[in-house]
Amino acid sequence: MIIDGKTQLLGVMGYPIAHTLSPEMHNAALDHLNLNWRYLPLLVSPDRLPDAIKGLSALGFRGINVTVPHKVSVIPLLDTITDAVKIVGAVNTIRIDNSSGKLEGLNTDMTGFLLDLAANRVRIGSGARVVVLGAGGAARAVGAGLSRSGCRVTFVNRTIDNARILVEHLKSSWADTDLQAASLDQLREVSRDAVLIVNTTPAGMYPDVDSTPWVEGVPFPAGATVYDTVYRPLETRLMRDAKAAGLTAIGGIGMLVYQGASAFEMWTGRKPPVDIMREACLRKLVLG
Ligand code: NAP
Repeated sequence: MIIDGKTQLLGVMGYPIAHTLSPEMHNAALDHLNLNWRYLPLLVSPDRLPDAIKGLSALGFRGINVTVPHKVSVIPLLDTITDAVKIVGAVNTIRIDNSSGKLEGLNTDMTGFLLDLAANRVRIGSGARVVVLGAGGAARAVGAGLSRSGCRVTFVNRTIDNARILVEHLKSSWADTDLQAASLDQLREVSRDAVLIVNTTPAGMYPDVDSTPWVEGVPFPAGATVYDTVYRPLETRLMRDAKAAGLTAIGGIGMLVYQGASAFEMWTGRKPPVDIMREACLRKLVLG
């Protein structure tokens, strides 16, 4: 790919940024579609975030992703945010208007999660009982998607107050939805008739690969699906334990790919080559 005076710029801002899979994923898609665009990793410390965001349109960027630790602190620096951002409370994608230079904050994590559930044929119809482990940023996106789909969701978190805060926040958007907060001590009781269990905690993520967010001795609900948003490693201990108990287990790589695919489509207006994006992520995860 030649970079010249017509090359359009995309990127991802984070701190640190060395382990991001996004440049490989997006550049593979841009190459596949023969687009003269490039996607760059942008290491931006929290104190330089306002300067970095302000410079984007002047430098001609068309869009960026935002990752840890900037997903919330970037919000007041933007011109507009979508309803999804208001509900989830975090931005992971920014679209920069070519002519006005205005910055719009979006959140594609919720869509990414729902698209991957659909791709894996996980049905979460109205009234489905779901347990979400964790109550942080990923839980907000996942919980918002599940609430919007009419599921009955219980957030189980080691700090129950954080789960309660999340429930209150989501109820301000979906007052009629059945949303509950629970502690890990209550996991046995609240997971009994769950059809889907989603891990949104980092427990089990590299290098902590022997950890699991599931409480020892609590049986997995028969016939349920376990979705682990962790994708490094591709198969976590939670997934292995769930499979050994006869459940279906899905890892978080698809959510990552679909959130990227949604952003790609918004920036370029082109249908994203999802399989090419997934292959690029897997290559980077395996080869490092
Ligand atoms: P976060 O905002 O820091 O929230 C972490 C949550 O996990 C909190 O509720 C925290 O509980 C809980 N937690 C942390 N360590 C734990 C442990 N060892 N055992 C049990 N609970 C623990 O983080 P986040 O932004 O939500 O991200 C969490 C994970 O989601 C990431 O590590 C990543 O793997 C995954 N993720 C995946 C995707 C994807 O596209 N696949 C996207 C986003 C995130 P307290 O409230 O008690 O602190």
